[in-house]
Amino acid sequence: CGIVGYIGHRDAYPIIVKGLQRLEYRGYDSAGIALFDGNDINLSKTKGKVEDLKQKSEATISLEGTLGIGHTRWATHGIPNDVNSHPHYSNSGDLVIIHNGIIENYESLKKELINRGYVFTSDTDTEVLVNLIEEVQKSEGAKLGKAVQIALNQAVGAYAIAVFDRKKPDEIVVAKLGSPLAIGIGENEFFIASDASPFIEFTNNAVYLEDEEMAIIRLGKEIKLRKIKDDAIA
Ligand code: GLU
Repeated sequence: CGIVGYIGHRDAYPIIVKGLQRLEYRGYDSAGIALFDGNDINLSKTKGKVEDLKQKSEATISLEGTLGIGHTRWATHGIPNDVNSHPHYSNSGDLVIIHNGIIENYESLKKELINRGYVFTSDTDTEVLVNLIEEVQKSEGAKLGKAVQIALNQAVGAYAIAVFDRKKPDEIVVAKLGSPLAIGIGENEFFIASDASPFIEFTNNAVYLEDEEMAIIRLGKEIKLRKIKDDAIA
């Protein structure tokens, strides 16, 4: 299982696909990608190999976008199939998430969200997390970073996640507990990956998140590192 992300000035697609291929050694059963061109999010995912994802993506979606996230899945909740593959949308269609790990209390969180009217299309724990983030945004008027932090404080489990918001085209939020997550810092561009191999050719300036740490990555800004349990986030 693996995570790759990019935000900057280059086409995200080739960086992400190549990055996912470099993470193939970690093992996986499905793969997916979401690309954001500032207006539209183009998402493609499939059971199978990164090569299958490549063929599907090149045949079915626009590959434009200087922001993107990609994932290889090792299924823990829900069988390996196209629908359960990541990325996952929130109900509004604005948030997109990739996740390695397990949200142990997803069933109780899911019940609460269903009571509030949320609908689920997959069997994954991950789709619960992205909708929880959306619910926090809505009910508390929280910004994306804060909403991720509050949601993760309600989640029990292990994760490396990357999430972006259609309403925030220059931002990706990442967080880590248990699963690895590295951020590569370039010239007005950032790379995200489970290890540095996907971005080693672009930069050797890397930050490795600690457990219970998150980062708000914004183009043109310094990375903001925050403790997930700290409530001082803006
Ligand atoms: N628990 C998530 C799922 O089953 C993520 C699995 C992974 O680490 O790839 O979809």
